[in-house]
Amino acid sequence: MMEWNNPAMISALDQAAIAITAKELPMDQDLEYQEYDAFVKQLETTYPQMFAGKYGGIECAAGWWPIIASLCASIQHHVDWKNRQSDAVPQVTVTQIKEKFGGLRFYYDGGDDEISGMVTMAAAWASHACEECGASGVLRHGGWLKTLCNTHHNLRESRKQSGV
Ligand SMILES: [Zn+2]
Repeated sequence: MMEWNNPAMISALDQAAIAITAKELPMDQDLEYQEYDAFVKQLETTYPQMFAGKYGGIECAAGWWPIIASLCASIQHHVDWKNRQSDAVPQVTVTQIKEKFGGLRFYYDGGDDEISGMVTMAAAWASHACEECGASGVLRHGGWLKTLCNTHHNLRESRKQSGV
């Protein structure tokens, strides 16, 4: 059974939540870029086996970072736990994480059926979470497909109208 009180998961979630809180403050683009780097570096150092290979980066906005952090924690926990028992599960290695058609895509090698289910669940979670801020969101049409909350949807619409 899954153990949801995994300390590694809580730690990763807390740190991602801190990153999002900081992101809501006004800031210049350099600082935003540093935060993204910090998030990626945190994943790579927390789950070195998952990010050991060459992978195509993490291409989505900060609202989904906690979902990705939680997914990575659950996956590695499952692999480690299974491999302490008799069942050997191939180590999961990430090949790419990105937004596509408004949905979260998590591409990887290895794993088992349970990990496949975790990835499906994470994508389902992301389909209800604003990619920008993580608040409750829905898939928005009109131009690029994006999963957004009302605030970020309205922001995008007003930007479109002002041509920015
Ligand atoms: Zn939002």
